[in-house]
Amino acid sequence: MTPPPSIDRGSVTLSRLFTPRSIARMAAAPHDAGRDAAAAAVLVAQARSRIVIALGVTVVQLAMVFWLGGSATPAILLGIALAYAAFSGVLAIGVGRLERATPAVVTLALAGDIAFSFAMTVAGTTAVHYERALFGAMIVIHLANVYFGRRQAWRMVVLSFAAYLLLMFAAPDRLTALDRVEDLWTLLIGAAGTTIVIVNAGHVRRRLRAIVTLFERAEEGDFSGEYDEEADVRPDAITRVGRAYNRVRMHLASMVLTDPLTGCLNRRGFEQALARAAARSSRSGSELALLALDLDHFKQINDTHGHLVGDEVLRAAGALLNQACRAGDVVARTGGEEFTMLLPDTDAAGAFQFASRLCDIVRGHSFPPPVPWAPAIRLTTSIGVVAGAPESRDDFAAMISARADTALYVAKRSGRDRARAWSPDLSAAEQL
Ligand code: GH3
Ligand code: MG
Ligand code: MG
Repeated sequence: MTPPPSIDRGSVTLSRLFTPRSIARMAAAPHDAGRDAAAAAVLVAQARSRIVIALGVTVVQLAMVFWLGGSATPAILLGIALAYAAFSGVLAIGVGRLERATPAVVTLALAGDIAFSFAMTVAGTTAVHYERALFGAMIVIHLANVYFGRRQAWRMVVLSFAAYLLLMFAAPDRLTALDRVEDLWTLLIGAAGTTIVIVNAGHVRRRLRAIVTLFERAEEGDFSGEYDEEADVRPDAITRVGRAYNRVRMHLASMVLTDPLTGCLNRRGFEQALARAAARSSRSGSELALLALDLDHFKQINDTHGHLVGDEVLRAAGALLNQACRAGDVVARTGGEEFTMLLPDTDAAGAFQFASRLCDIVRGHSFPPPVPWAPAIRLTTSIGVVAGAPESRDDFAAMISARADTALYVAKRSGRDRARAWSPDLSAAEQL
């Protein structure tokens, strides 16, 4: 499945945020359509909030001026609000039309928010209260972190703190050394707070992503991954989700990978087992064997005794095959009345001998009749046998399965109730 568009990109250091090289890299970065489309959608969705906030803040500021005697000039406040609303509106219309907002455009939109916070503060209050701009900036930083990722959040930290430093030293009526010390404290505490928020949110995001990956792998039928509960220093709600996944993992695996009738692996489970066994054989250099089994004239069993009895016979056949094989061998029901067996570390001669024995076992077995007084049900099976070493062949699984099927087909054609080993001549004969 397609992963959700990722906006946050890797680790971030302050020096990488605004250097000419980072800006050049940003401009030249490969176009990530999913990420840019997601960012555009967020900017469009937020546009109305930006405009409402601009007007709301202005109304509050004007109310202060008119009723409480604030010092701000209404025309300047209105001008800032209109400029910000127009900027946000035009930007949203633009990215909405293009359905795309590159990281540079996102930075521009967020810088507009920071600029609004600072401009409103400077226009609306005296220099003694300039730290108010930082509160506005912190809201922007938090939202940038949530919607656009860590890198955008760090950019806004640098931008707003640099703007505040500038304001601190440029403010004409803010010249006492004590004021500057107090302002520095405000800045340091603000920096510590935002750093903790960003780092913590990144930590949460990483842990959630690990769980999403586990579910995505599970969706593909891979249940080998487990949530690492030990890594959570302080267990929380995410740990509980991880634990819940670990609890249902085994149930999910058995639902997805096994055949409910016989309890053997199903085709998907078999394909995974074959891929794992092939990788192991490839490492160790040993051969592995595959047996393709098809019960003979099974249709007659259904026709004579009914489908339910046929099911019971299939269940018993699966149990019989499991009993007959070694620990480490794999039995799968890969079709209606078809089974496949995987025998690791087994060569062609050993596999053929085993397959012949299996034919004897199935032929000699008395399958329970539908009623106790009826004669036992008898069955035979045909088996195609093949063995080989993967030798890092990518198509090994497909190749060995096809060869086992060819050998099975020949076993059927030459009279059933027998094993046939694959050889190159068989393939040629099959073409006839
Ligand atoms: P052959 O020797 O050529 O393999 O003959 P066959 O009758 O076994 O093969 P065919 O492919 O003609 O028919 C397979 C039969 O297996 C028909 C189908 O109803 C039956 N079958 C497949 N899956 C199931 C199942 O889940 N339960 C039952 N009871 N029967 C099944
Ligand atoms: Mg069949
Ligand atoms: Mg059959």
